Amino acid sequence: MNQDTICALATPQGIGAIAVIRVSGPDTIQIVNKIFRGKNLEKQASHTIHFGTIRDKIGQPDEVVIDEVLVSLFRAPTSYTKEDSVEISCHASDYIIRKIIKILLREGARLAHPGEFTQRAFLNGQLDLAQAEAVADLIASDSEASHQTAINQVRGGFSKQIAQLREALIHFASMIELELDFGEEDVEFADRDDLRQLIDRIQKVLVPLIESFEMGNVIKNGVPTVIVGKPNAGKSTLLNRLLNEEKAIVSDIAGTTRDVIEDELFIEGIRFRLIDTAGLRKTADTIEAIGVERTLQQIEKASMILYLFDASEIEMSQMKEQETEFMASGTPYLLIGNKLDKISIEKKAEFEQNFAGILWISALEDLNIQDLKAELTRKVKTREVKSGDTVVTNLRHYQHLLQTHEALNNVLEGLDHSITGDFLAQDIRFALHHLGEITGQITTDDLLANIFSKFCIGK
Ligand code: GDP
Repeated sequence: MNQDTICALATPQGIGAIAVIRVSGPDTIQIVNKIFRGKNLEKQASHTIHFGTIRDKIGQPDEVVIDEVLVSLFRAPTSYTKEDSVEISCHASDYIIRKIIKILLREGARLAHPGEFTQRAFLNGQLDLAQAEAVADLIASDSEASHQTAINQVRGGFSKQIAQLREALIHFASMIELELDFGEEDVEFADRDDLRQLIDRIQKVLVPLIESFEMGNVIKNGVPTVIVGKPNAGKSTLLNRLLNEEKAIVSDIAGTTRDVIEDELFIEGIRFRLIDTAGLRKTADTIEAIGVERTLQQIEKASMILYLFDASEIEMSQMKEQETEFMASGTPYLLIGNKLDKISIEKKAEFEQNFAGILWISALEDLNIQDLKAELTRKVKTREVKSGDTVVTNLRHYQHLLQTHEALNNVLEGLDHSITGDFLAQDIRFALHHLGEITGQITTDDLLANIFSKFCIGK
């Protein structure tokens, strides 16, 4: 248990209607009671709220009222930190906040370190490490999808699953260790077939989690989506149409979009980072050539390519060549036939015979833009683990999952070759170690310090 009582502002700095100051630790209630005029907090039950005033120099002739406040009282162990905690809701003026914190410090609290409330929640067993890390993600989440992922994780997410599998594996590890104690005697306490089955089960859980990492990152950071096509295909017009604002320069002169322009578009809670490019025209103009170079780089980095073409302008062979390149890159792409308003039915049919899945739109006339948006989200979602499934977004978790996976593969291989128990035990221990690192059953102080230092003070 921590002996210090800590305090910090839990709401953002600056002027607002209400600010919340958090206090947590063994002396919380006694300290707050000393500066609070209202009911005697020491006699109040947990999960109660009390109106009163915070005062400086209580009982002295120059006693002053700092603010009228609401004090929410939580008694150990039923608080976020599992310690006695109080939240003081005061008026959000910098002066009041500073003054209240100063008085709290004078009465024996100390200022909390970044993430210290959540760290205490972890150390006191309220959250496991993966959940604590998800608290940081939850606070930072800025789209529906990233919020959903973080909240799933805070509420248990894959930690619970990992912890259960780890338990089962520990059982086998101890059986094998027991065999080792018997030394020369040829005994097998750990049934090898059962072990193999358990590992298969664990791998079935690990693999989707590992694969979800890419998707998780997409949710967290957005889907980098690059719009490519020949000059004048209508890329800037489409970008403007999607974003409903005049961001890119639209012009009739080929090759005017020289810079890479990036913007964000939210469709059904998914964030698309749209990147307009200088087009793919081979060029002698050096400024434009830099743009083309950058376009190629953007394609490499993108998670999705929107290829925009004007069927009345482009050669079929040129487009085939382009499609082959996209296929080779492995990045999902969408062929979008623009200027539907002026393309003849014959032209359309001709392209449809040669290319599958063309989506016809008119960026200028606003035709089929909703279909395009629906197709964008569909493309993301079909690569996505089904909704409600767990998604790994944290690089640290991902790395430990990978290492567990590898160690378990080694165990399977060992079983195939009937290797001795001590080698099996070694790989199993390795797997247990990495699973434990995820949920925090095994941690080092450095790791903890690193994780919680990323929080802000008051969290
Ligand atoms: P970019 O070079 O690919 O960025 O192309 P722009 O967006 O600058 O468009 C080139 C020209 O095509 C402009 O004159 C646009 O108004 C025109 N344009 C774009 N979309 C359409 C469309 O759907 N129909 C028609 N008729 N013209 C379009």
